[in-house]
Amino acid sequence: MKIPLCDLKAQYASIQKEIDDAIHSVISNTNFIQGQECRLLEQQFAAYSGAQHGVAASSGTDALQLALLALGVGADHEVITTTLTFTATAEAISHCGGTPVFVDVDPRTYNMDPAKLESKITKRTKVIMPVHLYGQPADMDAILAVAGRHGIAVLEDACQAHGAEYKGKRIGSVGAAACFSFYPGKNLGAYGDAGMITTNDKKLADWCAMMADHGRTEKYSHDYIGYGKRMDTLQAAILLAKLRHLEEWTVARRDHAATYDRLLAGLVESPYQPEWAKSVYHQYVVRVPNRDQVFDRMKAAGVGVGIHYPIPLHMQPAYRSLGYRKGEFPVAEKASDSVLSLPLFPEMTLEQQSYVVEQLRAALKG
Ligand SMILES: *Cc1c(COP(=O)(O)O)cnc(C)c1O
Repeated sequence: MKIPLCDLKAQYASIQKEIDDAIHSVISNTNFIQGQECRLLEQQFAAYSGAQHGVAASSGTDALQLALLALGVGADHEVITTTLTFTATAEAISHCGGTPVFVDVDPRTYNMDPAKLESKITKRTKVIMPVHLYGQPADMDAILAVAGRHGIAVLEDACQAHGAEYKGKRIGSVGAAACFSFYPGKNLGAYGDAGMITTNDKKLADWCAMMADHGRTEKYSHDYIGYGKRMDTLQAAILLAKLRHLEEWTVARRDHAATYDRLLAGLVESPYQPEWAKSVYHQYVVRVPNRDQVFDRMKAAGVGVGIHYPIPLHMQPAYRSLGYRKGEFPVAEKASDSVLSLPLFPEMTLEQQSYVVEQLRAALKG
């Protein structure tokens, strides 16, 4: 049996007509840039995320960069974020001219450890950027309390957390703004690159929308030197069609996670979820000994396992100039050596899940 980490073909097959109709409608009206679907998606995804405003962007990375710029991040500033994340989190900071300052993670949730945050704050700290890793919210109240004491804004990297809940409220407006990715493999995925900023701050939303569209205030009137970071209408139309299914897909992901919890009992520890968090299981992550060997064996058995992430950002060559050393963030480093993401997607069958668990059992035995 061959099981991918995420099965985009199965998902397309289940909603083919809706997707094809959405695509054809954009092609026939030819409003490829800033079509009405972009505005509709902004309204509907913001509403889904419990935020007042949404700004469609060309990717999650671009959404992060626009939001950081809107919060005033520039060359003199530091932005504190986690070392256990996708590299785009830190790239967005660097491309604003700012410096990423890394912090270690909590050993159970893999999210930014709020207890280690305050010691990283300096006069140059402009923003704290937690990541809701694997679809599980970070400990926002603790992070907001530290930020509040120092008058620093909190921007959420929610690129993996569409619909995730923190204390009963969906991620989208807990901090100053949240940024989502619609990369194809994310819980809500486009058919190419796309992203969104959600916020309750109208000024921030308007500024981001203007900067994403070349700093335009009217057709040929440009108040600022902006960017071309808009979302294509085609992607917006596809995402609108898929947004109607997001909740049922999230329910399916949670069901499959509970099934894994049950099937894996006694074999490996299932992912920890604090009582205030409701994960959307972008990834289902377990820890195993001899991880690389287990990974290779499962791959050989046709199981599309993943590693998120094998190298924490402070150890990446791209960030060598920041001067971090091995051993500086022991929790993240240990996690990087042992985490293993199992296939999880809404269309997954019990037979497929059982096969994954069987193969994990065999791989652990050696
Ligand atoms: C996917 C992702 C991004 C980047 O999103 P893109 O849409 O691929 O640019 C940023 N941060 C995290 C945590 C991600 O998972």
